[in-house]
Amino acid sequence: MSEEQKRKTALVTGATRGIGAAVARRLAQDGCNVAINCLNEQLRDEQGLAVAEACRAFGVEAECFIADVSSHDQCREMVDTVKARFGSLDIAVNNAGITADGLLVRMKEEQYDKVIAVNQKSVFNITKFAGAVMMRQRSGRIINVSSVAGLYGNPGQINYSASKAAIVGMTLTAAKELGSRGITVNAVAPGFIRSDMTDVLAEEYKKKVLDLISLGHFGEIEDVANAVAFLASDGARYITGQVLVIDGGLMM
Ligand code: NAD
Repeated sequence: MSEEQKRKTALVTGATRGIGAAVARRLAQDGCNVAINCLNEQLRDEQGLAVAEACRAFGVEAECFIADVSSHDQCREMVDTVKARFGSLDIAVNNAGITADGLLVRMKEEQYDKVIAVNQKSVFNITKFAGAVMMRQRSGRIINVSSVAGLYGNPGQINYSASKAAIVGMTLTAAKELGSRGITVNAVAPGFIRSDMTDVLAEEYKKKVLDLISLGHFGEIEDVANAVAFLASDGARYITGQVLVIDGGLMM
């Protein structure tokens, strides 16, 4: 990379493991400095630091930043710190997410509220603060991780599918608001990707899903990371307000 080609800075939420960690590594491979968001100190020490090291192996700078992305204040502070540390914020990937499954009529209020706070409000928090930085820069990329559950629904996931459907609406609204400042906002909607989140699901359920996947196998975290990297790349500069489904043909 030449002197005048400044490295881009990417912030990836929930980047201590799974899809977020794969996205962080992939963006580092593409030459971005990476801010790895970790929920707490324990996850930073047990997982985040290793992700940062893997990123640095590509010759970029990478550091961990602790924040619970459901907290408005912590997101503001994290975005300010990342901007101060790296000098710019060019790519924000809203990846952090949780599940707390249960059938609608049995779901507890806290179970609903928690998933909405972590999966959905986090996108408002980060998009608001990162978006403000990008507006001043007059360029930026925001990529939100939705899910096929938000597009098609999924039994046992009224909270999760609500949060992931909301992310689609938020992506479209932010794309319309921020486009004139050179900022693109897109979403990816993974289907069934092998990760710690899906490893815990019952074998019988996995078998049922597998039968519906056209390509005949589950996705890998790198499959999502590759799509995010494309949306973050110069090649995707004229793409905004889109939802890219990455599901091996599960939903079609
Ligand atoms: P994962 O459980 O392995 O990773 C989730 C990450 O989010 C972890 O690093 C976790 O620490 C972090 N996190 C959780 N709460 C947080 C908070 N409050 N603040 C900051 N970080 C927090 O799951 P994954 O499979 O890698 O999923 C990543 C994203 O992809 C999620 O948004 C998930 O909903 C979405 N997704 C996953 C699949 C799949 O099949 N795995 C499918 C569709 C969508």
